Amino acid sequence: MKKGLLIVFSGPSGVGKGTVLKKLVADKELKLAYSVSMTTRAPRKGEVDGVNYFFVSEERFKEAIYNGELLEHACFVDHYYGTPKAYVEKMRDEGYNVVLEIETVGAKQIMNAYKYDKGCISIFLTPPDMKELEARIRKRSSETEDVIEKRVLKATQELRETYRYDHVICNDNVDEAVSKIKKIILDKIVEQ
Ligand code: 5GP
Repeated sequence: MKKGLLIVFSGPSGVGKGTVLKKLVADKELKLAYSVSMTTRAPRKGEVDGVNYFFVSEERFKEAIYNGELLEHACFVDHYYGTPKAYVEKMRDEGYNVVLEIETVGAKQIMNAYKYDKGCISIFLTPPDMKELEARIRKRSSETEDVIEKRVLKATQELRETYRYDHVICNDNVDEAVSKIKKIILDKIVEQ
C-alpha cells in the first residue's frame, strides 16, 4: 500500500484553519486523518479532550518530550503544543494522508526532519486582511485582553514565515480555499 502524505497546515490564529480543515476532512476522496495535538492550554468552551486536543498538565507534556513521544513541539502564547508521533506514523502506514494543524516553529521542525520525504507537503493559510483577522481573534471571548494582544502580535510574526511553505492560500472565500487545497493534495498524491 502507498504510504500517506504528511501535510503541514499552518496559518495565524483566527484565519479559519478549523473551518477549512473540517471541510477537507469530510471529503472522503482525500482520505485525510487529523492529528490531534497535545497541549497545556485550557480547553475552550465546547472543546473535547481527545477530539480537539489532548489537554495535559505541563508535567505530562514535559514527560512526553523526554520520552520522545512527540514529532515536534513548540511554545505558543505561554502554552506548549506538540504532535504525538505514534498516530502520525501508524496512519501514514495505513495509507491515510495525515494533517498537522500546527504553528510555524513546529512546522519548521517538521520541514527539516522530513525534507527528504517526498510525501511531506506544507500549506499556509493567510487572511485577506489584518483588521478582519484581529476582529476574529477578539470574537473568541474566552480569551483575556492580554492573550488576544499576544495572539495578534503572533499572527503578524507568523505571516512573515510564509516563504518557508510549499503553498500559500488566501482564505478570502472558504469554499475556494478548500477546493484549491484539495487540488494541491490530489496533485501531490499523484506526484509522490
Ligand atoms: P489554539 O490555542 O488557537 O488552538 O492553537 C494555537 C496555535 O497552536 C495554532 O496556530 C495551532 O495551529 C497551533 N498548534 C496546535 N497544535 C499544535 C501542535 O501540535 N504543534 C504545534 N507546533 N502547534 C500546534
